[in-house]
Amino acid sequence: MFAGAVGGVTGSCYHLTFDGTSLVIDCGTFQGGQIADELNRRPWPFDPTRVTAVVLTHGHLDHCGRVPLLGDNGFDGPVWGHSATLDIATLIMEDTAKIAAHSPGPPIYDRAAVERIRGRMKRHPGYGKRQDIGPFTVELFDAGHILGSSHVRVSWDDGGERAILFSGDIGVVGSPIIRDPTSTWAPEAAVDWVVTESTYGNRNHPDRAAARDTFRDVIQRALLDGGKVLIPAFAIGRTQEILFELDQMIQAGEVGRIPVVVDGPLSLSATEVYRRHKGCYDEAAHEQLARGDHPLDMDSFMGARDGRQSSRVSDLRGAAIIIAGSGMCNGGRIRRHLAENLDDPRTDVVLVGYQGARTLGRALEDGAKEVWIDNRQVPVQARVTRISGFSAHADQDGLATWYSTLPRKAGGTTFVTHGEDESRDVYARLLRDRFGATTAIPQLDDVVTLA
Ligand SMILES: [Zn+2]
Repeated sequence: MFAGAVGGVTGSCYHLTFDGTSLVIDCGTFQGGQIADELNRRPWPFDPTRVTAVVLTHGHLDHCGRVPLLGDNGFDGPVWGHSATLDIATLIMEDTAKIAAHSPGPPIYDRAAVERIRGRMKRHPGYGKRQDIGPFTVELFDAGHILGSSHVRVSWDDGGERAILFSGDIGVVGSPIIRDPTSTWAPEAAVDWVVTESTYGNRNHPDRAAARDTFRDVIQRALLDGGKVLIPAFAIGRTQEILFELDQMIQAGEVGRIPVVVDGPLSLSATEVYRRHKGCYDEAAHEQLARGDHPLDMDSFMGARDGRQSSRVSDLRGAAIIIAGSGMCNGGRIRRHLAENLDDPRTDVVLVGYQGARTLGRALEDGAKEVWIDNRQVPVQARVTRISGFSAHADQDGLATWYSTLPRKAGGTTFVTHGEDESRDVYARLLRDRFGATTAIPQLDDVVTLA
């Protein structure tokens, strides 16, 4: 059953049943306005008390955010994932409970719910390893999207091996710190069915070098005019990659020294998790470590963990880079920085991630001249720059290349999910035309029989 991330990029959730055992692959939060709120609180389309286990592809909110709610509604099994994924998911769930406690209305879940789930987390043995869960075997492959991110292959014996691969979010080849998405597969990894994301199924990113050039220009302009550079960024993944890029530019003397502030306890804690899980690093990051230079350390870095430190960021005079969540500006400390600085023409807003429909980030991306932030009308005088070359999601070419490497058995279907409908349509057509794939574009709560 497709219980989320169909016709949009949030709320990922798949329910897979065989022989009395059922797995939930991802159980993420829907994001973007009132409709998302209702979807998050709607009754489950399957019975949570009969879910054997949850398996997570990665720790982003839209993939793990509703697991504690599933627990509150009767799920009492284990939650499996790569060890880094579980560390990140814990931070995300704690953050969700904290935000809920300070928001009007009934909280979606509380800290105690998160603690109960935390106590049931089980570390998968890791990439390329197998873990049996009832009649299922679950294998993880590096998805190159964020630390710990995985493609999840689930197989079972139904008069012969049957297998389905959940792509999770597919990363970009050449992203810093972490390794690339898996591109070499053993023939035994062949699958009958594929569930693939399609966030950028209808377009390509400019390359990373062009993204760096644009980014450098924005920073140089800020240094000249003394304006702030506001970067709404996912606390996890994007923040660390932006820090890495800034460190490289400052070290290489491409830009002058500029204070870099990461505002938000989640981003700072996630950076700590990134520092810790060196086993997930790519070769270049390992070489840098071997030279005694940690890829996530920089001199002009300031962290604002608590609210008092965060208010002091507002008092900073002159040019500064402020990185804060949330990535789509629909929550988090970035909103205050936007409210304080959007009316200043010296301000730059740099959008480095995907901006979902009906979010403040999308409004800025679309060139809104005026936005509402927490009941305040704010004129937009700032320059808004979209840099998609830093995306954590493969673009159309990246998705197609990834798909081309995947060993597929004859006869199965590829389900195109995790994209807005136009992306899904375009990408599904590409898969049919280029690879002769049989594709399907599922709708919410669609059930298919895999046989
Ligand atoms: Zn993600």
